Amino acid sequence: MKSLIRLEDLDPADFIIKWRMTEMCNINCSYCIRQHGNAKKIDKELLKKQEVRLHEVAGCISNFLNKTELSNVKIDLIGGEVTLFDLSKILFNLNTDKIKKIQITTNLTQPVSYFKNLVNILSEKGIGLSMTASCHYEFQSLNAYFDKIKVLQEFVSPLTCEMVSHSGNQDLCKEFKVRCEDIGVNYMLEADLRDKSLSARERGLMVASKKPSAGPRYKAKFSDGTEETYVTRNSFLYDKSIKENSEQKWIATEGYFCTNSAGFVYIDFDTAVGRTDKNDSCTNRMPIEEFTITSPRRCPHKHCSLCGHMSLWK
Ligand code: SF4
Repeated sequence: MKSLIRLEDLDPADFIIKWRMTEMCNINCSYCIRQHGNAKKIDKELLKKQEVRLHEVAGCISNFLNKTELSNVKIDLIGGEVTLFDLSKILFNLNTDKIKKIQITTNLTQPVSYFKNLVNILSEKGIGLSMTASCHYEFQSLNAYFDKIKVLQEFVSPLTCEMVSHSGNQDLCKEFKVRCEDIGVNYMLEADLRDKSLSARERGLMVASKKPSAGPRYKAKFSDGTEETYVTRNSFLYDKSIKENSEQKWIATEGYFCTNSAGFVYIDFDTAVGRTDKNDSCTNRMPIEEFTITSPRRCPHKHCSLCGHMSLWK
């Protein structure tokens, strides 16, 4: 069985910020893939307070980036549901020319005009918008979802359609896949990894795929000299020929070098979760005002969820 030597994230950005803006969501899907159960329901007072602080965080991100030599930064906005906020106003506060791309993951409950406005604001700053639009069929029909997708295709790039795949919705997944292929949009069917049963996760994965033209996202080198590319993190995790992937949920990372805080940082609302110069663990929390870039270092933890963006090597 082969062992991992190097796993490379192929995203062209030289630094990626993953920013969880809120835990709240305006819908409450039974199959929500948030790790600790369903996303939180809306609290209007809290939402207003969060919006005020998010404006400040955008300013802090600009300050931190402007002190670096970086030139191609991507910010990946996740929730909850990020479009609960007026993103065009929050992102207008980004006062830096380092950012080239904003990626959002949304449940697409906002009208198309919301996203058009966002694209206009960002393009004035030389920033492109990419999107993963999740299809939540319990709250929006496939017809209503694809009506929006067909318009968004004209001005969002790349645009990826996504649906959670579990053993109870396989017919819908097949229809979703056919409709994505009909209009030529990238798509991804994500297995529900919360399912404790491996066989159930594998059933969900039967249709977990992405339109090949979207290209691979990871490149891996192995102890036997072979190389592989993977389109999704799941396709890597489910490669049974890799020794470290025995649990097929997390990657065993202890002792590998990783790029956390060197090429990537996760911001949990207004807190940077990453390494400091004095502490190798990636779980240190600090106000975003205090975050600085470190060099790649060895992972002290047994497993990593990879947060989607880290590169690893021995
Ligand atoms: S657990 Fe932390 S230190 Fe280890 S690989 Fe993941 S991000 Fe890096």
